[in-house]
Amino acid sequence: ALSDRLSGIFESIRGKGRLTDADIASTAREIRRALLEADVALPVVRTFISRIEERCKGAEVSKALNPAQQIVKVVNEELIAILGGETRRLNYAKQPPTVIMLAGLQGAGKTTLAGKLAKWLKGDGHSPLLVAADLQRPNAVNQLQVLAERAGVAAYAPEPGSGVGDPVKVATDSIAEAKQRGHDIVIVDTAGRLGIDEEMMQQARDIRDAVNPDEVLFVIDAMVGQDAVNTAEAFRDGVGVTGVVLSKLDGDARGGAALSVRHVTGRPILFASTGEKLEDFDVFHPDRMSSRILGMGDMLTLIEQAEAVFEEKQKEEYTEKLLKGEDFTLEDFLDQMQAIRKMGPIGNLLKMMPGMGQMKQQIDSIDDKQIDRTTAIIRSMTPAERRDSSLINGSRRLRIANGSGVTVSEVNQLLARFKEAQKMMRQMGGAMGIPTGKATKS
Ligand code: GDP
Ligand code: MG
Repeated sequence: ALSDRLSGIFESIRGKGRLTDADIASTAREIRRALLEADVALPVVRTFISRIEERCKGAEVSKALNPAQQIVKVVNEELIAILGGETRRLNYAKQPPTVIMLAGLQGAGKTTLAGKLAKWLKGDGHSPLLVAADLQRPNAVNQLQVLAERAGVAAYAPEPGSGVGDPVKVATDSIAEAKQRGHDIVIVDTAGRLGIDEEMMQQARDIRDAVNPDEVLFVIDAMVGQDAVNTAEAFRDGVGVTGVVLSKLDGDARGGAALSVRHVTGRPILFASTGEKLEDFDVFHPDRMSSRILGMGDMLTLIEQAEAVFEEKQKEEYTEKLLKGEDFTLEDFLDQMQAIRKMGPIGNLLKMMPGMGQMKQQIDSIDDKQIDRTTAIIRSMTPAERRDSSLINGSRRLRIANGSGVTVSEVNQLLARFKEAQKMMRQMGGAMGIPTGKATKS
């Protein structure tokens, strides 16, 4: 399975203290192969791998995570993005009933899903009505009625032998019925064929136009892989799909459909079906699916904890320093820069830092390259220089410039920026009621 492959790949880099570009390239190559073997659509694989490579190469040197953990973190975040990011909730109509129409090929799991969804909604306090608008197969109506009974919800179907064979009329009538009987949700099950055909598309469109659904959910058999994703596109264009449901995720699905469908169709995955029983069903959470695919929920928890603990520790250390009357040093400055970069695009940062208005100009002038240069310069200083920048005279500036491959004027600029930041930190300490640093001469 895909998760076994991926765990194996991460296992092979787990012990490394540092990752070279070659390590990153070979890891990316292996992940690519694993995805292709899992039947993930090629454009999805391409996007995914290039994002991983880009992010791993430009990766900040994290003090909280080892290289293997950093790669897992990046892969996890990109998997979540490919699966849709946020959990997408059902859209409910402002004016009940909410109408949910199910579409998909025969055997995809629509009727089963209708029962599962109805039971789940009932558990959530709703009163759903299940509508049998699949009149194609002789026992489809009966199958839906049995499911409705097991789910403990009402069903709407043509009377047996009534001669009503028009699914559009059944669907239309069901809405009136729901209003009359006070059902706040209507789930319309429709007919599928073994392949896409124009007659079926037309029928689906007619039902759609008759019931004006709030959601058209395309049910996709996760075991079918790439074919299913193409069908999803056809339904999206032919009927208008608002969301996707993955069924049969319990089968030995290679993961291809699950990973491709969101990216290829641009439609979110709302639910996942994982067995034949009515309970085998849940809201689809991209983050949980990702950790399932990675097969390393524990590792991901560890990563989160390591990062949280590290950030907390850094904050505490700094407050403690201020409390002890110690000064803001070049080491702190470097930590701050790296923390800034870790927080993502600089522009967003400002929104996240209320009261940091006066730093705006300074922050705007920081880009990744500059942070790299700053890092190099500060690393070329001796520990004593980092603690007390007033030591850094002309000849030391030249030595540092040579050591970090920059010009003396760049070293001067950095020191000037540092002094600005130091001044600000001292003011902040003062504002917090903390005695300001022992103002070194710098
Ligand atoms: P429809 O033709 O789209 O309405 O598909 P059905 O709901 O009739 O399902 C076709 C078959 O797949 C039935 O035998 C179901 O029991 C089975 N099935 C549906 N969903 C799942 C699932 O999530 N897991 C498994 N293992 N079987 C499923
Ligand atoms: Mg069916």
